[in-house]
Amino acid sequence: MSYHILSKYAERCGWTEEVQVDVLCEYVSNQQSDDAFEDFLKVKYEEYLADDNLLCRKCGSNVDTKGYCVDETCPYSDWPQEVELDDLYRNSRDVIEKKYGVKKRREE
Ligand SMILES: [Zn+2]
Repeated sequence: MSYHILSKYAERCGWTEEVQVDVLCEYVSNQQSDDAFEDFLKVKYEEYLADDNLLCRKCGSNVDTKGYCVDETCPYSDWPQEVELDDLYRNSRDVIEKKYGVKKRREE
């Protein structure tokens, strides 16, 4: 139970959640298994998308299994939920795709 161990030390050292995340990330980097870590996170992301109760962060509509909002008038019908709304309004398609490593769904 790694989490149990972590919380024990977090308590001892008074680590905030942010510090705990840093410690975990440092541990992961030291394992030199970034690919395995990314695979793990991808599985977590798929689980997140597979959640039927997932709602769009902007309009509250349902989000399909690919992560897009079902409301065609919503900016998130073209972009995954992880993109910040601020970026959608302020940045060009190229900037957003580069920043998040995602693709816009529809061609303009
Ligand atoms: Zn939406």
